[in-house]
Amino acid sequence: MLVKSASFVISNTEVAKCPQSKLPEYAFIGRSNVGKSSLINALCNKKKLAKTSSRPGKTQLINHFLINENWHLVDLPGFGYARVSKSQKKVFQKFITNYFKERKQLVTAFLLIDIRHEPQPIDLNFMQWLGENSIPFSIIFTKADKLKPKAIEKNVDQYCKKLLESWEELPPKFITSSLHRSGVEEVLKYIDALNKELKGIRLG
Ligand code: GDP
Repeated sequence: MLVKSASFVISNTEVAKCPQSKLPEYAFIGRSNVGKSSLINALCNKKKLAKTSSRPGKTQLINHFLINENWHLVDLPGFGYARVSKSQKKVFQKFITNYFKERKQLVTAFLLIDIRHEPQPIDLNFMQWLGENSIPFSIIFTKADKLKPKAIEKNVDQYCKKLLESWEELPPKFITSSLHRSGVEEVLKYIDALNKELKGIRLG
């Protein structure tokens, strides 16, 4: 899919204030510093659409972007950031869970995982929660340029093994580097295919 246009729509902390349109939407979430802003910018072919953070955990809002006048990309707050106070954490966790539970336009979530790291409880628990709430998701491994191909393979295999301890089936997975723009087209293709499928359902 060619991203011809990408523009910021609205930021807020309430799902009720998210755009009323029926456009399909795709949410991006992950631990702070995982490379979410860089990936969103790479997907949209814009240098500064999502702010790449100098201080992790800065963006604690639901950010909607309109892509190709056709679908919404949603940038959700990074989680697991130690410098956010406990009460603050609770507040934004609540609005994230509300978003996932209430947002009917959400087609799938993309959970970003730094390819260099071992499976972290916070990510595994979040996947568990998504599963329990029947929210479809894919995994996007980020920063693949930081590892050699063999190490990429090993880490992804290990991650999948860990997931298979609690999941019967693995979610779709993508291996990306925003720096090299690798894997970016695959994510866009996947979104495009889902959009086309949805259109078929709506027209049918
Ligand atoms: P966010 O907090 O999840 O939005 O992460 P950012 O996109 O702000 O990235 C955090 C840090 O990781 C920044 O220093 C980025 O330059 C770096 N980074 C992000 N993506 C990549 C990548 O694909 N490759 C490399 N080498 N560094 C990356």
